[in-house]
Amino acid sequence: MLKKKMLFVYNPMAGKEQIKNKLSDILQTFSEAGFIITIVSTEQKGDARKIIEEYGADYEYVVCSGGDGTMNEAAAGLMQLEKRPVCGYIPAGTVNDFASSLKIPKLMKRAAKLITEGTIFHCDLGGFNQDYFTYVAGFGAFTEVSYQTPQEWKNALGKVAYFAEAIKHVSEIKPHHMRIVYDNDEVIEGEFILGLISNSVSVAGYRAYEKKNIKMDDGLFEVMLIRELKNPLEIQMVLNALMTKRLDAEQIVRFRSQKIHIVAEDEVQWTLDGEDGGFCKEVRMQNYQRALPIICAQEAIAKVSMQPL
Ligand SMILES: [Mg+2]
Repeated sequence: MLKKKMLFVYNPMAGKEQIKNKLSDILQTFSEAGFIITIVSTEQKGDARKIIEEYGADYEYVVCSGGDGTMNEAAAGLMQLEKRPVCGYIPAGTVNDFASSLKIPKLMKRAAKLITEGTIFHCDLGGFNQDYFTYVAGFGAFTEVSYQTPQEWKNALGKVAYFAEAIKHVSEIKPHHMRIVYDNDEVIEGEFILGLISNSVSVAGYRAYEKKNIKMDDGLFEVMLIRELKNPLEIQMVLNALMTKRLDAEQIVRFRSQKIHIVAEDEVQWTLDGEDGGFCKEVRMQNYQRALPIICAQEAIAKVSMQPL
């Protein structure tokens, strides 16, 4: 049998180092499925991207294991390759919104098994200046709170409550003056406390849209912005809108778009896939349609693809 070549890049520290006990099972699963495997363990931030960028082209499969940051880096590394290998993802620790949208299992061994028998989905990938995001780029209330809260806290609090909690702290959050141009000629200008540009069925578990309307290969982002909230009444209206998911408050701006150009008056701290995205005054985001061939569960494709099987 002709062996398929796999580059397996993992972060040993992710998810309380749980891969240490699972590595042998994972490798056995791949081995039995006919893969010949090159294994690289990352040591610091940026390693996964560098390794995949440099060596990925020699492989048919590039599989990464780790948290949000590792998956993000793997996608960024793959984007540098002309001919992209098939990507596989084994989440370590919590399953993020991206993995759960693709119905990638939480158990590492089952995620590995899926890679050997799952279906390739050509997923959209977000470009953010020179960086990338697989499921969300955000700034403001939401992201600042997420930096303060450990994952366990997020889980315990529950998903919608978590989102609402961010808005409650709104008085501590400085609005950013921004001029936002999308799809080339639509312009929005004003003070914003939160922005989420996503390509995912949910963000932090929060489903702001009807699930069936979100496609991860339609070349479009879902964009949600919240304007500055000037008084308790406005805060309450936005909270209600978020809790009821009607999102009909005047201060909530939503649209879909393929390209977004944001110019802020000050440096804005961004998060990409829940990781620190750095400070930027100007951001250009672009949806690279169907750029990431990633293995997912077949039943996920029926939900997230424009072209269900
Ligand atoms: Mg989309």
